[in-house]
Amino acid sequence: MIYLDFAAATPVNDKALKAMGPYFAEEFFNPSSPYLPAKKVAAEYESAKAVIARAIGAKATDLVITAGATEANNLAFTALSLGEAEPTFKILYLETEHDSVRRVAEQCGGVAIQVLPSGLIDLEDLKGKITDGTELISVSLVNNELGTIQPLAEVAKIVREIRLDRMRRGVKRQLLLHSDASQALNLLDVNVARLGVDLMTLNSAKIYGPKGVGALYVSHEAKLRPLVAGGGQEQGLRSGTENVPGVIGFATVVAEAKKHVKNNRAKYRELRRILLDELQGYELINKKHTLDNFVILCYNGLDAERLVFLLEDKGVYVATGAACAASKGVRSHVLKAIGLSDSEIAGSLRLSLGELNDAEQMHEAARIINEVVLAERARING
Ligand code: PLP
Repeated sequence: MIYLDFAAATPVNDKALKAMGPYFAEEFFNPSSPYLPAKKVAAEYESAKAVIARAIGAKATDLVITAGATEANNLAFTALSLGEAEPTFKILYLETEHDSVRRVAEQCGGVAIQVLPSGLIDLEDLKGKITDGTELISVSLVNNELGTIQPLAEVAKIVREIRLDRMRRGVKRQLLLHSDASQALNLLDVNVARLGVDLMTLNSAKIYGPKGVGALYVSHEAKLRPLVAGGGQEQGLRSGTENVPGVIGFATVVAEAKKHVKNNRAKYRELRRILLDELQGYELINKKHTLDNFVILCYNGLDAERLVFLLEDKGVYVATGAACAASKGVRSHVLKAIGLSDSEIAGSLRLSLGELNDAEQMHEAARIINEVVLAERARING
């Protein structure tokens, strides 16, 4: 098997598995219980949160642990005030966001910010759409279909200027910047202060940690409302008995990611180069401003969904886009947003590389993909 779909799921790292182990059956105590073994577990849970927080330049108390990035993204939107002033421009979100941002933003009457053909945010479009009613801007750090790295610090600069201007004019409305950094932690050095974000979503599942665990970084500027009522865990913002093994695993992989960012970058640059050199008859969609482990290929005129099945037959696992959209047979809103035609979208494959991959696999994958593509072209041309 050559697995090239790490943007959809990553296997849990051995160190994380080992670290999580004792918390399932031996150290199973509820961190809120009053006796000593439970208090020990509570302390270990807090230390694990501190490891995650420190990796992004924050404190444990700035993090709300959630059951994954979808929940963290939904929670971020509770920062909106309940008033109805200018509801249309209250939320601005990048049109290429993951559905867990896009759908909530749409439900709240959000307005989409356009991207340029490169996939980067159109900063002029953003500036033009901010009104005195705007409270929240959501721009992911890395796009999950293209790997595009957004210039978040530049967005934060615009946000700061708007805040200053509002202060000068006595406009009291908050303006917060949220970023979904689900795909970023393995290959980017993420720091909330440097990026200038008020809210940031993290996802254990994309960085070789357990699934169903995530976190929302919340700055002091942002006042959230809980999505679920209950026992008041996580500063009252996310009730429910803590997922101790999940958070221990998450902290382990965050620490690993932080250590290996530089090496990871060099590794994927080389693997990507091999693929791009050896693959034939494609157009590269994500040429610039991208994480090197994302390779988006367009085989115009071919049906990428058929390619996915044909490649699976030969042991190569790839995707046509976000796993959730692909499973519903929905065309990628991301590829549409960067200006691809329907036929180009239909012919596009997402290869996302990860820790299981090496150079030998890239040579083999390129050979198999070339063979399958050639056979498909021959079949179509009769
Ligand atoms: N945000 C991004 C950018 C993602 O890639 C994903 C997962 O595909 C999510 C959010 C949702 O994560 P989860 O399904 O773990 O809640």
